[in-house]
Amino acid sequence: MKKVYEKPVIIRMTEGIPNKFGKRDHITIIDEIDGVKVEELVEKYGSPLYVISEKTLREKYKKLHKAFSVRYPKFQPAWSYKTNYLDAVCNVFHSEGSWAEVVSGFEYEKAIENGVPGDKIIFNGPYKLKEDLVKAIKNGSFIHIDHFDELYDIILLADELKLRPKVAIRVNMDTGIFPQWDRFGFNYDNGEAWKALNKIMVSGKMDLVGLHAHIGTYMMSAEPYRVAAQKLADLAKRVKETFNHSIDYIDLGGGFASDNTLKGAYLPGKDTNPSFDEYAEAITDALISAGFDLNDLPTLILETGRALVDDAGYIIGTVWANKRLADGRRAMILDVGVNLLFTSFWYEHEVYPAAETGKALEDITIYGPLCMNIDVIRSNIKFPPLNRGDNVVIKRIGAYNMTQWLQFITYRPNVVMIDTEGKEHIIRKKEDLSAFKAFENVTDD
Ligand SMILES: *Cc1c(COP(=O)(O)O)cnc(C)c1O
Repeated sequence: MKKVYEKPVIIRMTEGIPNKFGKRDHITIIDEIDGVKVEELVEKYGSPLYVISEKTLREKYKKLHKAFSVRYPKFQPAWSYKTNYLDAVCNVFHSEGSWAEVVSGFEYEKAIENGVPGDKIIFNGPYKLKEDLVKAIKNGSFIHIDHFDELYDIILLADELKLRPKVAIRVNMDTGIFPQWDRFGFNYDNGEAWKALNKIMVSGKMDLVGLHAHIGTYMMSAEPYRVAAQKLADLAKRVKETFNHSIDYIDLGGGFASDNTLKGAYLPGKDTNPSFDEYAEAITDALISAGFDLNDLPTLILETGRALVDDAGYIIGTVWANKRLADGRRAMILDVGVNLLFTSFWYEHEVYPAAETGKALEDITIYGPLCMNIDVIRSNIKFPPLNRGDNVVIKRIGAYNMTQWLQFITYRPNVVMIDTEGKEHIIRKKEDLSAFKAFENVTDD
């Protein structure tokens, strides 16, 4: 059938108002998560409530693993603790074969407590205390050196402990993206990374095992990873030529985009962001074309965080009140605010009613419960009017919200995981006053 001619139109873009592709003229609802009714979850565990799907965690991991392992023979993921360090979440990834990637003494302790062997922990970050370094050296963990001061700390500790620390350096570089992250690690382009590698090799006190780069987060193109992989491969080959020393692994960090949509983006993230296959193609292509000896191929490590866990997380909330703003616009107050959904500062989170609603949609603003002007979940969304007490489900919130959450004004709520058999487990219980009293003192005088 001949398609009807549609006149091209130019519409001014306003944040939150969908364009002609994304116009929501019907409303989808989410009334269950992995077969468990939202209503039932709220009844049992209260609102607000975080819900994590173990099924989705495992599916995402398998997808990532497949995309890389079919293209490159030696592949090892390491779970980025700061993206979501609830033990139950970490343990799902560890059970799939993931190592741990940590960026503080606290996260290091968590990984050890989770049973991760020392030689499967990658220790990143610009702030590693001496006592943390000592633990990492004794456990044979991989220390990714961030700056020269840390390099010298490690040389001193190697002497003191009479041990050979296993180290890598973090490298930053121009990969064609803006802004360039240059505050972490040693710069490739100005020769600083090469200088650091020389210092390590000449010191003779450490085992140089890897090269690391984490070029950014929510990278909407795969090409910068190709550049990063090429530059790290180049360094590895120079180390081989100069010192006849082989690098065990090349670690390209995290940063793959999830399917969330950034504020002001024209199209939804799930339509525009690269797939695992596209990232994998760019990275592995660069590595297999780098001219490594086949017997000496470095392992490819990834520290993918956001793209693995975002889709598995939901937060259920309840409409606390409806009101009209001074300009007549409708607003809705939820019991979920930026304290629980830190990522609403940069994402247009997808909010869904949890039950059938009327068909009419209105432009509304969704606020959280905090007594703070910036507590906005969506500044403008087409949404059906809901009643007080109705539930909503916010999707794709598994990354960073359960680590960057604020204990501000209210307690943090229950976190429930739905396992692969559809059974629920409280994996972090709702806070109460006793949790705070345990840490506080009043002065006597
Ligand atoms: C935060 C971080 C990650 C994870 O990044 P995502 O964007 O969540 O994938 C990986 N490696 C390092 C060094 C990090 O700091």
